[in-house]
Amino acid sequence: MPEKKQFQAESQRMLDLMIHSIYTHKEIFLRELISNASDAIDKRYYQTLQSGDSGLTREQFSIAIVADKEARTLTISDNGCGMSMEELENNLGIIAKSGSLEFKKSIQTAEEIDVIGQFGVGFYSAFMVAQEITVDSRKMGEESATRWFSQGADGFALSPVERAEVGTTITLKLKEDTDDDNYGEFLEEHRVKALVKRYSDYIRYPIRMQMPGEGEDAEPSWETLNSMSPLWRKNKNEVKPEDYESFYQSNFHDFEKPRRVIHASAEGAATYQALLFLPAKAPYNYYSKEFEKGLKLYANGVLIMEHCKDLLPDCFSFINGLVDSQDLSLNISREMLQQDRQLRAIAKNIEKKIKSELKALMEEDRAAYDAFYGAFGLNLKYALYASFGMQRELLLDLLEFNTTAQEKLSTFAEYIARMPEGQSAIYYATGESAAQIKRLPQCERLTEMGYEVLCLQDDIDEFLCKTLHSIEDKELHSIAEAELELESDEEKKRVDEAREAQRQLFERMKEALEGRVAEVAPTAKLKSHPVCLRSSSEISLDMERVLQAQPGAQALPKAERVLELNIDHPIYGKLQRLEPEQLKDYANLLYNQALLIEGFPVEDAVEFASAICRLMVD
Ligand code: ADP
Repeated sequence: MPEKKQFQAESQRMLDLMIHSIYTHKEIFLRELISNASDAIDKRYYQTLQSGDSGLTREQFSIAIVADKEARTLTISDNGCGMSMEELENNLGIIAKSGSLEFKKSIQTAEEIDVIGQFGVGFYSAFMVAQEITVDSRKMGEESATRWFSQGADGFALSPVERAEVGTTITLKLKEDTDDDNYGEFLEEHRVKALVKRYSDYIRYPIRMQMPGEGEDAEPSWETLNSMSPLWRKNKNEVKPEDYESFYQSNFHDFEKPRRVIHASAEGAATYQALLFLPAKAPYNYYSKEFEKGLKLYANGVLIMEHCKDLLPDCFSFINGLVDSQDLSLNISREMLQQDRQLRAIAKNIEKKIKSELKALMEEDRAAYDAFYGAFGLNLKYALYASFGMQRELLLDLLEFNTTAQEKLSTFAEYIARMPEGQSAIYYATGESAAQIKRLPQCERLTEMGYEVLCLQDDIDEFLCKTLHSIEDKELHSIAEAELELESDEEKKRVDEAREAQRQLFERMKEALEGRVAEVAPTAKLKSHPVCLRSSSEISLDMERVLQAQPGAQALPKAERVLELNIDHPIYGKLQRLEPEQLKDYANLLYNQALLIEGFPVEDAVEFASAICRLMVD
């Protein structure tokens, strides 16, 4: 007996889920095994073509299904690239790829297991129907072959085996039927036929099934079950939504249905078909370095690259899918591909297509667009920022923000369309939520005038607004900026007078704050609040916070804080009457209050509390 090896812990859990999954979803195992077989043939076919080896011709590749009712086995064979002993161990002993990692974490209860049916987990899904699985495989270019055998939970064993041909044969010993579950039906020709038609019709190699001969001693015959026309070469109106969904889920390892399918073809300067999918959710590693963008690239029906990065701009890296082009040569190398004019033309087209589809989604189903934006909006913003605004035309009208006046997200254009007469700039503020921003002292005045404020909730937002500078001739202004041009001439005059008259007060307060502020200044822009903070440099307080959170931030520029005092607030009068010691406390308290209101922590909590106590005792 060959030695038993254990599945990796994560795979073990996945296996348990498979074995106990509910019956109605079990049928997808066939789709998964066929999809693996097709991939393996793709690999072998491509390598034969590249090496110029006479090898097999395209017609000789196929996937064979044999059902043996007596032995209760279903066998799926392919003459694809095969696996070495090591590959069998590594590929079939471990699940830690694609979305499965995330999936494992989120699934805990029996009801949740239900989601399994909505997607594929590849090879493992076979354990939903089989009590025993044998995989015989011989790798291309090798003489020896290996058998992988497993009865599920207790691990797997590897042993040498005789095999004449390169390729893989997977034999499933089906589970016994129970009162509820009928596994035997997967041995029925009509059932297998229907499953292949439903899930694997587009597979480009023939899927043949052995059919029993008519009458006694008659030879069995082979019947091809699939139409073999790739889904992306079909006419859009021939393809049902379920076909796209099933194709997406089994080929791109997502358990959710795609939010939108983009099926496009072009002729002329670049001839290609593209089948692109907008995922419903961001993959768990999307915002990490691990994530690899790219589309599958086919040259006239042959898969030549699994992740072609050059086909997708970074801003749309969330798109999954494939491109098949008649213009590309099969032998093209990665380096040459980067230079390829055709490829660049296709990439440009695809970029435009994705953009127009996102716009269409926004117009046709705003809730769906908002959900998309929730998952991937951050990426659009980063891409626009990283391009120094060069991708403005492509991305600007895809952006959305909360605002102080609306319950729903707004684009810049929607905000501008709602601007009341007299409002000449676009106003924004950074904060945790619209509700919090609405309560900012600086906001009060704007709200009273009927002006809306865009709520910037992501760290990147303010940096982006600075890069964009203006939109449709309307400048973007932070409500924390110095000159909002909202004060009347009369108000400005009063502020100037206050600055002159109370010069000493402002100086003393600045001194009391010991270098924490660059200036203490009068303002008439506040209503009910006594103070607010602004920055007199290009770097706002919030930008400083984002910058300082980065490694090596010491050298980065900082905000120049200005504490503004509301000259119409009773506290302003009180300040003028204070003793120097008291003024020091007041200055500190007001400064810390302003910090708190802006969403920053107080600098010295103990001192802050003590100052309040002194005031209370007074
Ligand atoms: P996935 O298909 O998502 O990679 P699977 O669990 O279905 O996950 O398969 C794991 C790996 O095993 C595949 O990536 C492939 O390398 C290998 N494999 C599976 N089936 C075959 C096959 N029929 N021929 C060759 N390799 C295969």
